[in-house]
Amino acid sequence: MNIKKFVKSGVYSLTAYQAKEIPCKVKLDANESPYGFKGFYNIVKNIETNRYPDPEAKKLKNIIAKEFLVKPENILQGNGSDELIYYLIATFGGPVLFPEPTFSMYGIIATALGEKTISIALDESFDLDIDQIIKRIKKEKPKLIFLSSPNNPTGNCFSSEKILKIIEETAQKSLVIIDEAYQPFSSKKGFMPLLSDYENLVIMRTLSKIGMAALRTGFLIANADIINQVNKVRLPFNLNSFSQAIACEVLKKKELPGKYINAICNERDRLFKNMIKIKGVEPYPSEANFILFKVEKPDIVYQSMLKNGVLVRNMNGVVKGCLRVTVGTPKENNIFLKELRKSILNTGA
Ligand code: PMP
Repeated sequence: MNIKKFVKSGVYSLTAYQAKEIPCKVKLDANESPYGFKGFYNIVKNIETNRYPDPEAKKLKNIIAKEFLVKPENILQGNGSDELIYYLIATFGGPVLFPEPTFSMYGIIATALGEKTISIALDESFDLDIDQIIKRIKKEKPKLIFLSSPNNPTGNCFSSEKILKIIEETAQKSLVIIDEAYQPFSSKKGFMPLLSDYENLVIMRTLSKIGMAALRTGFLIANADIINQVNKVRLPFNLNSFSQAIACEVLKKKELPGKYINAICNERDRLFKNMIKIKGVEPYPSEANFILFKVEKPDIVYQSMLKNGVLVRNMNGVVKGCLRVTVGTPKENNIFLKELRKSILNTGA
């Protein structure tokens, strides 16, 4: 079969998201938390495996509603926030606007669904190029604008004034989705408190970065009119019973996730201070659970560290000269620092 003739041309031209499992001793490539949650036997033992999960995830929504001071009708659950990006684009269509570099799934999903993408380069300090963005909004009238803040892979938050300007400029015309996947690690205020002020504002969150990546649980918070429309394209039982039950249990005991988040932020700051001391390494300040850093020979440093068991993310194709390291446990971070120093020295990078 000539598959090229068969498949949609937008899909044929795509490259699949790279989520390969690369064997390593210290895994610091996927922005996961080094701390997971255990001991759910009592919770999951009563799940009736012959029954479909609660299609509305009512218990989970109630817990999230209390935490963020919203109503359950303002929340929509996703099988990870990836799925919610899919649903948003399937519901509202494009063009889909986002800055570059950012989380790659906005562009991949828009293209897969046959929608036009508009990507606008960040400025030299990795902030939004507001003049260009406003110009393109006026000209191309995007339906959806995705802003990951803190941004993956750069780690910084975008300026709040610029984000607000975009939200205000697009009132009644576009939805602005603030992807707050990394907000729990940020010292800056998120956009949740502004939800009631702006009808076109949507907040996207995930439990993946705070120790529950295995559960694939994300959620949208927005006004009920938006949620009701997106809910029409949601697959009926998109969040399985195990994820719902475990997520509820972890979120009910807020102290433990909070303790882990603090530990990660402290380690991020220690890692940054140590990385900056290594000659030939330029780390960028981060409000997330990872640090982007520049080296002279990124491909060589990446391979050399991997050979010694430390896996980071090679971002050289996305941000020139850069690798991205996820903050691990103190022990993992020490191994990373040692291997980074060694690979810079050995390779003359
Ligand atoms: N948004 C951003 C900015 C991300 O970096 C990621 C994960 N890499 C996601 C969303 C997706 O998270 P998940 O599907 O695990 O909820």
